[in-house]
Amino acid sequence: MNETLMNEEVPSPTVLSSREELCKDIFYEQTCDEYVRAIRLAQERVTGFLKNNRKPFSGIKPADIRTRVEAVDFEVPLPDYESLLNEVDELYVKHATAYHLPQYIAHLNCPVVIPALAAEVLISAINSSQDTYDQSAGGTFMERKLIAWTGAQIGFPSDCDGIFTAGGSQSNLMGLLLARDFFALKHLNRNIKLDGCPPEATRFRVFVSGKAHFSNHKNASIMGLGEQAIVHVETDGRYRMDPQKLEEAIAREREKGNIPIAVMATAGTTDFGNVDPLSDIAHTARKHRLWLHVDAAYGCGLLLTEKYRHLLAGIEQADSVTVDYHKSFFQPISSSAFIVRNKLHLNIIKHHADYLNPKEQDYDELPAQINKSIVQSTRRFDALKLWCTLRYLGKEKLGQYTDTIIETTREAADSIENDDSFELLCHSDMGVLVFRYTEGSEKDELCKLNQYIKKSLFFSGEVLLASTKVNGAFYLKFTIFNPLTTITDIQNILTIIKQHGHEYLQLNRVSPAGRTDQF
Ligand SMILES: *Cc1c(COP(=O)(O)O)cnc(C)c1O
Repeated sequence: MNETLMNEEVPSPTVLSSREELCKDIFYEQTCDEYVRAIRLAQERVTGFLKNNRKPFSGIKPADIRTRVEAVDFEVPLPDYESLLNEVDELYVKHATAYHLPQYIAHLNCPVVIPALAAEVLISAINSSQDTYDQSAGGTFMERKLIAWTGAQIGFPSDCDGIFTAGGSQSNLMGLLLARDFFALKHLNRNIKLDGCPPEATRFRVFVSGKAHFSNHKNASIMGLGEQAIVHVETDGRYRMDPQKLEEAIAREREKGNIPIAVMATAGTTDFGNVDPLSDIAHTARKHRLWLHVDAAYGCGLLLTEKYRHLLAGIEQADSVTVDYHKSFFQPISSSAFIVRNKLHLNIIKHHADYLNPKEQDYDELPAQINKSIVQSTRRFDALKLWCTLRYLGKEKLGQYTDTIIETTREAADSIENDDSFELLCHSDMGVLVFRYTEGSEKDELCKLNQYIKKSLFFSGEVLLASTKVNGAFYLKFTIFNPLTTITDIQNILTIIKQHGHEYLQLNRVSPAGRTDQF
């Protein structure tokens, strides 16, 4: 090998020391070319994914992909980047769900914007950690500026603060944690951070609508309050928290000897995309001195639209807010934030470590984002994605994406309503429609029929739908989350749903059970 390297025809005669040979795959000055080559090969897979995918899913069965994954032997590394990326393509990229196609209409997964993808290249390679100034100087202030900007969109005063988190569930956890610890400090003179939960904590109660995200329940368990702490407030006809029922629920819990501490309102429910009446809820929360957290993981996109911003009226009265940029700001996962109206509340969770953010550093004016983070120490500079998006696309265009989605959803709702084969359960403030196919089926067969439609569409890979249950009944669900999706796309999807519905009815007609000959 040394002989080859010494050959005069080889332009780069560098002989690698054994140390360099060992470290030749580490990202550093000497490996620039290798890095660029690897990234270019990865990029080719990405463009292939965009150009060759006609269906949102390959339809591969779990047993099939599992066998292929299990066959890989970690003891035998691959010889070059080509083989590496070929293998990744076969196992992953080919069967990855394509969120950017209009036929993907299932969950809250957005298509992503290109400036954020450019930012991702920098984020992972430079690999700054956002815990302290000495690990990320510019990044610290860029994150702070984005938090302040988000606070301003909410309508919070300028002494609001917050932190980027890994997701809405984590942001909601911070909301519940501050609510509980603040309550205990203020009303029970108890510092939960230091002394743990007081005996009264088993009686703490948190009010959410029946359609609130399940992270609220998980967070209550993680925090030792138990899911029993969560009180479901009844909803109105559009599955939004009913403020009158909230009043009643608070009174009922007090009568039972329980201790209301917080209301977690939802701006944009996962199942219906509807916004709880925030102003009325804020009024009730203030009246009863309860912490108000608004979970706008989904509904945060409304912050950026002129046309529909009014749906969030009242959000500015919250004590804290969750926003998921990786939902309605079209950012790659992960990108979320927890924003608190009064930055002093974040002191409740501050911890010092001599090796990271020693107490005296507070006085050195060396900022440390770690002070505001509860579960992450090492933390990605996800904020750079939003930074690049805002600087390049701007707020207005992002808002127009949300406008477009809302308008497509309204047209889609009309199409479903005007079609006798379907029953629309509820209209949406945003992009979620819950409905079912009802043609020619006995009432008790509807669940099976719609379950069949969802499953057969999934394995055909043609259309990916979501589903949910309402009062025990199975419904199909559209989550329209792509500004490229047109009403024609939706009508085509409805036609495909009907075809699969017919298929089910046909299959059942010929079944030996000899059911329902009317079809
Ligand atoms: C998605 C969602 C969450 C959870 O956010 P993650 O980023 O998935 O952790 C919380 N609340 C609502 C209303 C959501 O739609």
